[in-house]
Amino acid sequence: MSSPADKENTKPSNFLRQIIEHDLAAGTYAGRRWAGRPGDATVQASGGPDPARIRTRFPPEPNGYLHIGHAKSICINFGLARDYGGVCHMRFDDTNPEKEDTEYVDSILDAVQWLGFGWEAHGTRHLFQASDYFDFMYRAAEYLIEAGHAYVDEQTAEAMRLARGDFGKPGVDSPFRTRTPAENLARFREMRDGQHEDGSMVLRAKIDMASPNINLRDPAIYRIRRATHHNTGDKWCIYPMYTFAHPIEDALEQITHSLCTLEFEDQRPFYDWLLERLTEGGLLQSPPPRQYEFARLNLTYVITSKRKLAQLVYDGKVSGWDDPRMPTIVGLRRRGYTPEAIQLFAERIGVTKSDSWIDYSTLEGCLRETLDVTAPRAMAVLEPVKLVITNWDELHGVGTLDACSAPVHPHLPELGRRDFKFGKELWIERTDYEEVPPKGYNRLYPGNKVRLKYGHVIECTGAVKDAAGTVTEVHATLVPDTKSGTPGADAIKVKGVITWVGAADALPAEVRLYDRLFTEAQPDAGGKDFIESLNPDSLKVVTGYVEPSLGAAGVIAAKADDKFQFERHGYFVADRVDHTAGKPVFNRVTGLKDSWGK
Ligand code: ATP
Ligand code: MG
Repeated sequence: MSSPADKENTKPSNFLRQIIEHDLAAGTYAGRRWAGRPGDATVQASGGPDPARIRTRFPPEPNGYLHIGHAKSICINFGLARDYGGVCHMRFDDTNPEKEDTEYVDSILDAVQWLGFGWEAHGTRHLFQASDYFDFMYRAAEYLIEAGHAYVDEQTAEAMRLARGDFGKPGVDSPFRTRTPAENLARFREMRDGQHEDGSMVLRAKIDMASPNINLRDPAIYRIRRATHHNTGDKWCIYPMYTFAHPIEDALEQITHSLCTLEFEDQRPFYDWLLERLTEGGLLQSPPPRQYEFARLNLTYVITSKRKLAQLVYDGKVSGWDDPRMPTIVGLRRRGYTPEAIQLFAERIGVTKSDSWIDYSTLEGCLRETLDVTAPRAMAVLEPVKLVITNWDELHGVGTLDACSAPVHPHLPELGRRDFKFGKELWIERTDYEEVPPKGYNRLYPGNKVRLKYGHVIECTGAVKDAAGTVTEVHATLVPDTKSGTPGADAIKVKGVITWVGAADALPAEVRLYDRLFTEAQPDAGGKDFIESLNPDSLKVVTGYVEPSLGAAGVIAAKADDKFQFERHGYFVADRVDHTAGKPVFNRVTGLKDSWGK
């Protein structure tokens, strides 16, 4: 029998795939019911058998823009659900009343969809927000109190911290630990009703102050915080702690595999403890979700802390969250990265249980691979100097132009050909001329012949310079009967081939040459000030010329977001914000070869 799950066999395995395959084979979650919406045990029991074979979730806090690290998590969570006939929930973890913004919510949804994923399945929209579960969380807290598993602690934060002990030293029980459930319940309700100051007391789980895992030494689960919440307004002045809220969110949504990064490993015993208590109390359906941890993405030359990325934006070090040098999804997109390249990257780096650094060239390599097969080719001159063919008038006639063409893509003839004109005056790269050629230099210098790609062979005769010694014109003569594609064109052998555009028909364009944002491979490692290693040359803006086929009427007319390979230069994208047909703006995505090597 063929099912979507057969796809699993075509992808390299990893420990998460093995866990899922084991659970599917063992039928671990086969008996679960799903009411079509998140809910407690009673709600879910009213539903039919869960149509999803597994449920995963992607749970960002809406407090910033997503970055390449999140993309890894998105590809893992949505990708596994897709591959195993499951569903991935898009959940905003908005239990913290501070730092919410609809700007972030919109950008996150946009990023996930752009990467190629969605949250609709089986007629249900799996787009949730954790703050919708506050009522249940409160009920769960009261249940823990009544069952003797939680108490209100009125010690100061400092006293609590001291009593917690440390790795070598067990903690000390709070004097409030032995209160009766009735006393605790009364006090917790006072907390809820606003009768106590912010920070004056907290609700704590009652577990074990001597546990070797400090997270089990009676962690705080509810705190008093007078803050207006974007969803619930002023309904609550107490809010659940993240470690309490997260397992409950997973359980209410019937998540089977809760996948997170390694720093949450120490929280897993509490995750399990809490869900065991709430399932044994009949509040949540059994079996509860399980948490599994994978290594976060560390990428060389890149920062993936939302706080530090925000600093770059607010200090004006970059032009915004979507600056093409930013590792945000919007930044990568504006830089010219494609969803295919990012998905390929996530697949290629795989999933492991130990932290490591991934070389930036791996990400770029994925992009080159995906663009190479589709991107139209074009010629562009980024640092132009004029080339004058001094015998043009004599050979071809004054003011004449010669039509040349080239394939849009060397391996996709069906995409047709680009047209451009050769004439007396052309633009070439300034670096393609040397008065005194260095050893091994095969391009233009007096007496040397080169081919102008898709055009003719020329012989350099010299250059004109201004008073400062800067070359203003390179001069050459055309070698007759050498036009590319005509019989005998190759009779004259040349070592160098250079790119060019015609002065008569080339289009001026702004070209933004981006380079790495940081000069150090691990800009923020070991508490280093990452601002100090900002690369002062990460952006160079030049005015160059591009061939006419990129213009509005051309065969490869450049529209915002279109990607191209500029021959010899690398991959470029028409800027999604600033590019127009009348005023073209291209961003360099990456060069043709890896430039990240040591
Ligand atoms: P902050 O930078 O503000 O601490 P965060 O990076 O943890 O936040 P969340 O919004 O909490 O951001 O992240 C959503 C999900 O993305 C989490 O499940 C988190 O584990 C995952 N994630 C975040 N950064 C990375 C990363 N570098 N590699 C892999 N997954 C990541
Ligand atoms: Mg976080």
